[in-house]
Formats: sequence, C-alpha cells, structure tokens
Amino acid sequence: MKILGLTGGIGSGKSTAARFLKDLGAEVIDLDKAGHEALKKGGGAYEKVVKEFGAGILDDKGEIDRSRLGEIVFKDKTALKRLTIIIHPVIDEFVEQKVSECRRKGVKVLVLEAAAMLESAKTWQVDEIWVTTAEEKTVLNRLKTRPGFSEQDVWSRIRSQLTNAARIRQADVVIDNNSTLEELKAGVKAEWQKLRGRIIDS
Ligand code: ATP
Repeated sequence: MKILGLTGGIGSGKSTAARFLKDLGAEVIDLDKAGHEALKKGGGAYEKVVKEFGAGILDDKGEIDRSRLGEIVFKDKTALKRLTIIIHPVIDEFVEQKVSECRRKGVKVLVLEAAAMLESAKTWQVDEIWVTTAEEKTVLNRLKTRPGFSEQDVWSRIRSQLTNAARIRQADVVIDNNSTLEELKAGVKAEWQKLRGRIIDS
C-alpha cells in the first residue's frame, strides 16, 4: 500500500484534490476532520484543550467553539503549538488504526489529507508528500463565500502556516491549483497515472 500525505495551505484545494483522488480509486482519510472530532465532548482531546485554553472557548452547550479557539491559536504561534501537542497523540492513534484497517482491506493507495502535515513535522510514515498550491489572492477569492470566514480570518490562517515555497521544497508532487476545477482534475489524474507507474516499478 502506498500512503500519500496530501497537504497545502488553507483553501489551496486539498479537499477537492482528495475528492478527485477518491474518484480515481484511492481511500481518503481527512485528518482535519478527525481533529475536529477529537475536540468534541467525549473526544480524545476535549478535556485537555479546555484545561489548557479555559472555559472561554466553550459555547453554551459546553462544546468547544472552534472559531473561538481559532481566534486564539491562529494569532499566536505558541498557542498553536500548545494545541498541536495535545491533539497530535490523538490523531497519531487514529492514523495508526486506519492504516492497519486499510492494509487489512487490501487498499492500494491511501491518502492522508491534513492542512498541517508539514508544520507538525510528523508525516505518519507517508511514502510521498503531495502539495496543492494556489496563490494567496486566488485563495482569498475562493474563500470569500465560506460562511463565518472573513478576509481577516483567511489572512491570519495564511500567516500562521508555512509558505507555499516551504511546502514545495518538501513535496514529492506539486499540484498547481491556480486555474479551473477541470484543470485541477486533469492535473490530479496525470499525477495518479504517474503514481501507478511508480507502484508497478516498486
Ligand atoms: P481548507 O484548508 O480550508 O480545508 P482546502 O485546501 O481543502 O481548504 P478546498 O476546500 O478544496 O480547499 O477548496 C477551497 C474552495 O475553493 C472550495 O470552495 C472549492 O470548491 C474551491 N476551489 C478549489 N479549487 C478550485 C478551482 N480550481 N477553481 C474554483 N474553485 C476552486
């Protein structure tokens, strides 16, 4: 089984590329979604995160309000680090379980999608890093309509992340997503075909 780590900046097209990879036959696991699950009441990170960041991050139902938490961590790198230190072991365990499950099922290509895969320097023993890239102004334009997301929010996320250049330096495959969805789909398909060649050769 080949394990691909799919990453990229906010709004760069990770989820869309992941969807295309799924259509081509890959199994996809969204680790950002798993991180959100871990923050829910009863989730593996809930108690520790509330203890670390205080009751001010809770909504009236006692759930962690991710936008409140985001306001704290995306403005302050040390706070983001503290959050990562709590969430990571929970995600690591989740990944380990999923990888074993996929191996048992005979999955050929597993995609682990995560925004902060490179920042965390933890790559879950992936065989290849695939990076989606889009220019900042394109991202801002595409995320304009995302509910609850101001331009300011997008900028603070962009500033809290690695730059595109830093991601590209660590990438095995770069998926350019500055053009149309059709171009993205074609780019993903072309890389999928090359990957199949590498699987046959290995
Ligand atoms: P996030 O980091 O927030 O999870 P992401 O990297 O997963 O974002 P997507 O959700 O795939 O990015 O894309 C962001 C938005 O841009 C979505 O609304 C998506 O439909 C749109 N989008 C992605 N690629 C293109 C494209 N090539 N042309 C037009 N819209 C696009």
